[in-house]
Amino acid sequence: MKLSQMFLPTRKEVPAEAEAVSHQLMLRAGLIRKVSSGIYCTLPLGYRVLKKIQNIVREEMDRAGAQELLMPTLLPAELFQATGRWEVYGPLMFRLKDRNKRDFLLGPTHEETFTEVVKAEIKSYRQLPINLYQIQNKFRDEIRPRFGVMRSREFIMKDAYSFDKDQEGLDESYLKMHDAYVNIFDRCGLDYIIVDADSGAIGGSNSQEFMVKSEIGEDTVVFCSKCGYAANIEKAECVREFHEDHAEKTLEKIYTPNVRTIEELEKFFEGEASRFVKTLIYKADDKIVAVLVRGDREVNEIKLLNLLGCIEIEMADPETVKKITCAEVGFAGPLGLNIETYADKEVQGMKNFVVGANETGYHYKNVNVNRDFKITKTSDLRNITKEDPCPKCGAAIGIAQGIEVGHIFKLGTKYSKPLECTYIDENGKEQLMIMGCYGIGVNRTMAAIIEQNSDENGIIWPMSVAPYQVIVVPVMAGDETQFKLAQKIYDELDKEGIDVILDDRDERAGVKFKDADLIGIPVRITVGKKASEGIVEFKERSKSDVEEIKEEEVIKRVKNNLRLNNG
Ligand code: ATP
Ligand code: MG
Repeated sequence: MKLSQMFLPTRKEVPAEAEAVSHQLMLRAGLIRKVSSGIYCTLPLGYRVLKKIQNIVREEMDRAGAQELLMPTLLPAELFQATGRWEVYGPLMFRLKDRNKRDFLLGPTHEETFTEVVKAEIKSYRQLPINLYQIQNKFRDEIRPRFGVMRSREFIMKDAYSFDKDQEGLDESYLKMHDAYVNIFDRCGLDYIIVDADSGAIGGSNSQEFMVKSEIGEDTVVFCSKCGYAANIEKAECVREFHEDHAEKTLEKIYTPNVRTIEELEKFFEGEASRFVKTLIYKADDKIVAVLVRGDREVNEIKLLNLLGCIEIEMADPETVKKITCAEVGFAGPLGLNIETYADKEVQGMKNFVVGANETGYHYKNVNVNRDFKITKTSDLRNITKEDPCPKCGAAIGIAQGIEVGHIFKLGTKYSKPLECTYIDENGKEQLMIMGCYGIGVNRTMAAIIEQNSDENGIIWPMSVAPYQVIVVPVMAGDETQFKLAQKIYDELDKEGIDVILDDRDERAGVKFKDADLIGIPVRITVGKKASEGIVEFKERSKSDVEEIKEEEVIKRVKNNLRLNNG
């Protein structure tokens, strides 16, 4: 391709709306453009990268024995009503009606659809196991679309579904997908960890996420360097036992005007946050509940959701808090509160702590569980911290941010049961199929690759996913010798099947180099003054050194580089 003819709108300025480096670079390098909040079009250069990632995914899925097909994105509501997910998905699901006022949705994921298709066609144990996948657009009305295509409302997902006769079969299918994912993300040049995860709305008993380490990651991952334990913080269990043995002191009500936050409490009571208990009012579906955690802890909403078995939870709005506690926000406490009260395990072990008094301007001191108030249920409800031990081996843990690029689940009979997806076994008996599901965010993977592979000048594509592998740059477009040689090298590389572009634009060399760096082409061949001697420059985007090589060595050098770096 010749750069002068390409639709490649690059930008010098850093777009104000983009926080994440990958989002900035995707806009600057002309990979994507915003259409609406959380909705993007992928421009030609970006689409080449997407297709390369899709091909890696496809090759590894096929190698693992999965078969590609294509499902519709427009789905009838009945499919999701049968499994209860028409409700479970809540506002995240895009819903619409047809001309006859029948309910439809745009698929956020496809467990139901695949299960129905398999149910209709597969009858015998002889036809199992089977693993089917697609690469297709998904729709989720995210509360906070963020970081460009990292969290968008329409995105491309590779989703696969396995159907087995029994649990052993599922274990095998799951392991195959696990290994395929390792190959995929290795080939994409990503630095990632595999963590135990909560199964969320998709359900099931066992799941793992592939997390790309990155400061902007919206997930927090916990890992133990000693035993290899790794989990999403949503899932990581707090096992530290905590019991204070002090004698219970007399309960006191203290006038605390304008003391609402933990910091203000610390100052007022001259005590550490660990001496206080936070009372948080939550809306769990239609129920209002109170949740107690130590002052310096964070509530783990996933653990809470799982404990309550509800569909959605969120902090109650200030009006509700006022109504429930009869006080301004900041003075909630468990004493005399007429709602179900759930406490973190740690609170159960505390003595003589401070809580809000459910009266504006007042707190209670020397509060004790059971004596002063009752807990509905105690459970592990907080986020693990660096001070906690590894739940598996007790050693110190590390905590980092991660971007979830892939997720694999053992579903069991979660979908085959309600949808009656059965087969006839060796003994002529009807059995439920045992399912697994496996997702990869394709555009998110592209953004994650940029997040881990860039410098101040732009993107540094790993060779395996680079939109073009080589860029040939004649320094002076008007110099016939230079241009002819550049064109010749370009033609030869092209003939060899190498993805190459020729920067034939009538621009200064500085501009061309800047653009080549911004769009991140792994190898640059510069044809300059020594063109007349048949000498050109070879430079890798990821390295600073420039090497002079003979014109006839170019193909060999490029091929060698491709062989070494092509994932
Ligand atoms: P998240 O926790 O980030 O919202 P999820 O766990 O809901 O994601 P899954 O249902 O596991 O997502 O979907 C499979 C994969 O699809 C994810 O691992 C992720 O890579 C990708 N994905 C999910 N939601 C989005 C989105 N809004 N934008 C881009 N990619 C997404
Ligand atoms: Mg997930």
